[in-house]
Amino acid sequence: MTAENVPAEPRHPEPLLRAEGLRKVFGRRVVLDGLDLEVAEGECVVLIGGSGSGKSTLLRCLNLLEELDDGRILLAGEDISDPRIDADRVRARIGIVFQAFNLFPHLSVLDNVTLAPIRVHRVPPVKAREEARAMLQRVGLAEQAGQWPDQLSGGQQQRAAIARALVNRPMMILLDEVTSALDPELVGEVLTLLRRLRDDGTTMVIATHEMDFARQVADKVCFLHDGRILEQGPPDMIFTEPREQRTREFLARMI
Ligand code: ADP
Ligand code: MG
Repeated sequence: MTAENVPAEPRHPEPLLRAEGLRKVFGRRVVLDGLDLEVAEGECVVLIGGSGSGKSTLLRCLNLLEELDDGRILLAGEDISDPRIDADRVRARIGIVFQAFNLFPHLSVLDNVTLAPIRVHRVPPVKAREEARAMLQRVGLAEQAGQWPDQLSGGQQQRAAIARALVNRPMMILLDEVTSALDPELVGEVLTLLRRLRDDGTTMVIATHEMDFARQVADKVCFLHDGRILEQGPPDMIFTEPREQRTREFLARMI
């Protein structure tokens, strides 16, 4: 190839994740109604919207915990919604953290973090433990590695769950209302950690009711309504001059 015909860098590189026309129906209820979403590498996308608008279902679909009724999901160009895909391999590339901590109570904090790497992804135990300790250090839990989940505060448990989601070095992580079950005084430490991960360039999709936090961390805010993204844009736009009446009503209720 000569210099002239080397392809130029694409002007709009493909987003890391592209969801197209996602449709999910539970019984007769259409929960995702042709939803499109793009997430660029290093981007922090925040999902806001009323209860029942489809935020959790969207995150669960992205992690292949729900089967789509229509649409497709491309991760780094690969169609991960293809039913033949290896879901475990996808989940190593897209981590997820839920509202309730979901740590295994009978395993130490360290073993919670190494479980999937060792059992599912066949990482040698010595290496898995080394990586888990490094990740626990990163979330400020180096000292707690040998403890049981119930010896930790709710905020510490949630940080352990985040370490577990990050230990496979996923391409992105999904966080579903990760502070909603916490006592108010423990919310801050988890949000501080998320802010730090964002500043380190972690690609994230966060569903949250914490509007101040959303405004601070989001590169892009998506307002969900009835299973679609009704409006999206930079936080300054969504929070100060939303175009849609429904967004304005939602924000008025939240403040
Ligand atoms: P959000 O997270 O925005 O509150 P959800 O995605 O949890 O919204 O829920 C959207 C709608 O889908 C709600 O009406 C909810 O009751 C319904 N739903 C979610 N999961 C299921 C399920 N497994 N079976 C039936 N209905 C469900
Ligand atoms: Mg939800």
